[in-house]
Amino acid sequence: MAALLVAAGLAGIMEPLAAAQQAPPAPPAPPARFVVVLDAAHGGDDTGGRLTSGQYEKNATLALSVRLRSLLGARGMQVITTREADQSVEMAKRAEVANHADAQACISLHVAETGSGVHLFASSLTPAVPSHFAPWKTAQAGWVTRSLALAGVLNSALQHGGLTVTLGRTALPGVDSMTCPAVAIEIAPQRDADRKITAEPDDTDYQALVANTLAAALLEWRTEARQP
Ligand SMILES: [Zn+2]
Repeated sequence: MAALLVAAGLAGIMEPLAAAQQAPPAPPAPPARFVVVLDAAHGGDDTGGRLTSGQYEKNATLALSVRLRSLLGARGMQVITTREADQSVEMAKRAEVANHADAQACISLHVAETGSGVHLFASSLTPAVPSHFAPWKTAQAGWVTRSLALAGVLNSALQHGGLTVTLGRTALPGVDSMTCPAVAIEIAPQRDADRKITAEPDDTDYQALVANTLAAALLEWRTEARQP
């Protein structure tokens, strides 16, 4: 009886196997879509802060966005930016771009002369269950937990890269309306133990170090995001 059952079972398996052998090979699965939104803060009339070099924050953030975009693109990530030139973009528009992109990460870029190293901010909204009908101004509440996880990945990569990192949570207009993992990054001068500035936020080598580290961290974030 048992042998009969096995035979019947085998026959049942053999048939689909034979059919599968005749079928043309399945096309390779398309790579999972992984979109990063880069938001160069300020722009146009909104100059942002002014750096010691005389450069406006709006230009430094755009330079950083351009640099990051090419690094991420080279790693096979799809990148969408909120601006590509010196133009003013409203906060609501920035959030709209991020939400429309259905991004796996949104990085809002700032630079500052105050503080030191890299400041990472996640929204200070209280985490809530994601909802399709979340109020616009607090839509990020449903994503805060993921945003904190993203900040954690960026934080460990930056620290590993030898950078000083300060983590914080604050009200972030724009980011608070984003329905994706989102963090704001503010690059402050690099300082030595005596608080003496060793690199300004618009220093090319310093920006390259930060951008390369962020790109590596986002690769790691992509791997994590793909895990079921
Ligand atoms: Zn700023």
